[in-house]
Amino acid sequence: MGLFDSLKKAFGGGQQETAEEEKYDAGLEKSRSSFGEKLNALFANFRSVDEDFFDDLEEMLIGADVGFETAEQLTDELRDEVKLKNAKSKDEVSQVIVQKLVDIYGEAGEGEDNSLHYAEAGPTVFLFVGVNGAGKTTTIGKLAHQLQQDGKKVLLAAGDTFRAGAIQQLQEWGKRDEVPVVATEPGGDPAAVVFDAVKRAKDDNFDVLLVDTAGRLQNKVNLMKELDKIKRVIVRELPDAPQEVLLVLDATTGQNALSQAKEFNQTTKISGIVLTKLDGSGKGGIVLAIRNSLHVPVKLVGLGEKMDDLQVFDPNKFVYGLFKGLIKEEN
Ligand code: GDP
Ligand code: MG
Repeated sequence: MGLFDSLKKAFGGGQQETAEEEKYDAGLEKSRSSFGEKLNALFANFRSVDEDFFDDLEEMLIGADVGFETAEQLTDELRDEVKLKNAKSKDEVSQVIVQKLVDIYGEAGEGEDNSLHYAEAGPTVFLFVGVNGAGKTTTIGKLAHQLQQDGKKVLLAAGDTFRAGAIQQLQEWGKRDEVPVVATEPGGDPAAVVFDAVKRAKDDNFDVLLVDTAGRLQNKVNLMKELDKIKRVIVRELPDAPQEVLLVLDATTGQNALSQAKEFNQTTKISGIVLTKLDGSGKGGIVLAIRNSLHVPVKLVGLGEKMDDLQVFDPNKFVYGLFKGLIKEEN
């Protein structure tokens, strides 16, 4: 059974939502209603499926932040699909569109490795990068808590020494989570902090080291050099680390997040994306744009402010949250 059919069944059968589904449901409410409104607006003037309609559809998809190329490709596929299914009425056409979107989300996610990778032996290192305000420190704080709950021994490294308050912010998370933090004075050398943290992680048998970094230095070249240096320090001590270099992106910034991702990916090899603030954004469609243009998997999503609102990305649950209520229920 395809994703669309299984969702249709799930919505129609009145099945109890799992706790995870509830999180996706709540966290994607804004994206869902914004998409639903766009879909309604599209059909408000619906007369027939002609070229004007497909132009409007393409515009609607671009507005939903799936990205320009994706919108174009989607519209082409939808044009064929509507013909193939001989859909004519508003309801028929709208269901074909939703079904196609669900299928495209499903297909794009097939074979994608959304899991976080851990070292087989010795400490695992995750390096967090991204512009200021994206949610790096918060994500580290939430993840540290979850890993700790899972029985892992966690260490944090305050690699953002550039911004006043950044070290303190991580230390506050450390206190809340009861997780130690390796830090230096503001303005100190981030690579030295990371060196100390890696050494401590090895010597004291920590399971996971989460490394915070600056989102901005004097200029972009400096930042990329700094990240490179941090990476080299880690590799020298732990040849298989970092197991993940996670780029943190703020979903509310839409297409801007996408250009940041492209820029980072050119200089620092990214292994995964953390998409934060989905709860505060109507731009969930950005997941498609990230996949289609970057080919870097989304690995974590921020679905709210609470500790457990940071979730490992599950593509099917994401689609569930995004299209719930838009799929006509089975009678
Ligand atoms: P950094 O500069 O990348 O370290 O960003 P911060 O971790 O300091 O986060 C910036 C702001 O975004 C803070 O106010 C966080 O509470 C907020 N934030 C981060 N992730 C999420 C999320 O998933 N949902 C919501 N609603 N807010 C978030
Ligand atoms: Mg920070």
